[in-house]
Amino acid sequence: MKLSNDNTVVDTPQVVGRYRVIPLIQEGASAASQTAKATADIQESLGLPGTLVDDWHDKAIARLGQLLKARRGLRVFMDTCTKCGACTDKCHYFLGTHDPKNMPVARQDLLRSVYRRYFTWAGRLFPWLVGARNLDKSLLQDWYTYFHQCSECRRCTVFCPKGIDTSEVTMAGREVLASIGLGQQYSQEIIGKVHSIGNNLGMKPRALADVLQSLEEDILEDTGVAVRLPLDDEGADMLVVTPSADFFAEPHVDGLIGYAKVLHQAGIRWTFSSEASEAANFALFTGQHDHMRDIALRIRHAAMGLGVKRIVIGECGHAWRVAYSFLDTLVGPMEFLSPEHPRAEHICEVTHQLLTQGIIQLDPSRNADVVVTYHDSCNVARGAGMGDIDGGQFKIPRALLAASVPKLVDMSADTTGQATFCCGGGGGLLTDDLMDVRIKGALPRAQALQAVVSSDQVTHLVAICAICKTQLTSVLPHHNLSDVQVTSLHHLVGDALVLT
Ligand code: SF4
Ligand code: SF4
Repeated sequence: MKLSNDNTVVDTPQVVGRYRVIPLIQEGASAASQTAKATADIQESLGLPGTLVDDWHDKAIARLGQLLKARRGLRVFMDTCTKCGACTDKCHYFLGTHDPKNMPVARQDLLRSVYRRYFTWAGRLFPWLVGARNLDKSLLQDWYTYFHQCSECRRCTVFCPKGIDTSEVTMAGREVLASIGLGQQYSQEIIGKVHSIGNNLGMKPRALADVLQSLEEDILEDTGVAVRLPLDDEGADMLVVTPSADFFAEPHVDGLIGYAKVLHQAGIRWTFSSEASEAANFALFTGQHDHMRDIALRIRHAAMGLGVKRIVIGECGHAWRVAYSFLDTLVGPMEFLSPEHPRAEHICEVTHQLLTQGIIQLDPSRNADVVVTYHDSCNVARGAGMGDIDGGQFKIPRALLAASVPKLVDMSADTTGQATFCCGGGGGLLTDDLMDVRIKGALPRAQALQAVVSSDQVTHLVAICAICKTQLTSVLPHHNLSDVQVTSLHHLVGDALVLT
């Protein structure tokens, strides 16, 4: 990583033109980009060894063996790659860093080569013939480096004829690393905070209540309408669980104000919970299923304690993936929810229903001069659906934007929908020590954005993911796109809402 005197990255790749060029490979180009290892305190608080254990080799192989038994998909992914090469140029980190180990197939092979050596007869007898490798210290270092240069976005999976899910391979790699004492500081610390305090930011209930009260005062001052942001309101119909960044970070908080305006206007009795004050579930990123379940259990417990009949998830990409795809498996069935709303709903889906039923009205002229493009967040696009509409995760956010602003422009089709490019900061990579990788990984998204800024004078880039919003706000200036405002979808909805 090259830094200037003022600590900014100076070798940012250039945004040129709309089409991505497959780069020439540069061996080891991003080997120096390292994320900090979790401290002993954090690891031990999660029931893991504090530092690299003496018998790390045997423990790692044993843990990998357990995962291969427990996750049948992982074993299939280990066996089915034909080295066709279709995925090689599909990863934003390869396109941005040029490091061949960031090609999805090469990332998988870090694990696959070990799988072959220890879990296949051919690899045991003829390792040189089948690309099998002993797990030594050098390979272990590559695991740590390159499994933390994958945002688990699953774009490569869309293009793989075998449907191999690299994110599952990355999760398994990280899970093995954590089990021998090599967890990642950023993700493990966040998981620890959710367990001990209730949210990623370590915000205690009293502080949360103060923040919500001050936001109520801001809304009253701005609109003249007394919109409530209730906390722990027993007997409410709806529990809203949102990423904690929504409570104060920019541009997230404007989205949270938008949720409150919509629910106020619809006359719904709703509440936040101080127990489940975090929608994010970073255990998805680390592959630690036991922690993923414990974090999800808070939502169930809070919902039952408050007596709500609906659970709604705010603008958070991976939280929505966990809620949509795994919540029932992790902590279901949710028999206490109303028969009309038997599963967790997305805030966009709720707002869209209210709009189509004529319960709320949106006036796009209130966002005059706003030209919007929409960034499909990976975990929503490729890991979930939305509503009861085929492709709802693509259609519903766009329908809300079309009703809220005068002009909505899509970026090129090979960078949106299922083929969307990651913002570059997902999957536990949104940490300062990976800033170089994050900036380079954002290159394809920046190129597609630059194209619509040039052709349609786009002013706002909208996302419904807390990580995307933070990441894009940080990295777009490095790609000369600081004039584009990264915005929460419900910010524009809230501004367009006819509020009474
Ligand atoms: S899952 Fe995403 S980040 Fe990981 S290798 Fe595939 S394209 Fe790259
Ligand atoms: S596209 Fe799939 S099968 Fe082809 S090389 Fe990549 S992972 Fe292997």
